[in-house]
Amino acid sequence: MAEDCIRESGYLVPDADRLAELVRSGLIQRLYKRNHKDNGALEQILNRILEALREHRDAETLVLFLCEECGQVAVDEKPDVCPNCGSDHIKRY
Ligand SMILES: [Zn+2]
Repeated sequence: MAEDCIRESGYLVPDADRLAELVRSGLIQRLYKRNHKDNGALEQILNRILEALREHRDAETLVLFLCEECGQVAVDEKPDVCPNCGSDHIKRY
């Protein structure tokens, strides 16, 4: 019932099985890799969300750092310079 209401409101209900399939397919990773040398923290972020969904809890708060030049993402620790493009314009989220 709650899921139906959420869907009716136009929101996507996160589903652990579907997210796991998406992670396994590598689609998001491939799209990200088109513009970045590696996955950055993408795989780590997806897996943390997946873990939370499987355990029926909120995902833990992640400290994210985004390179403002190229969009490279890092989790938890701010890199001195972007490992993808070398920029030092890295913003915390
Ligand atoms: Zn960068």
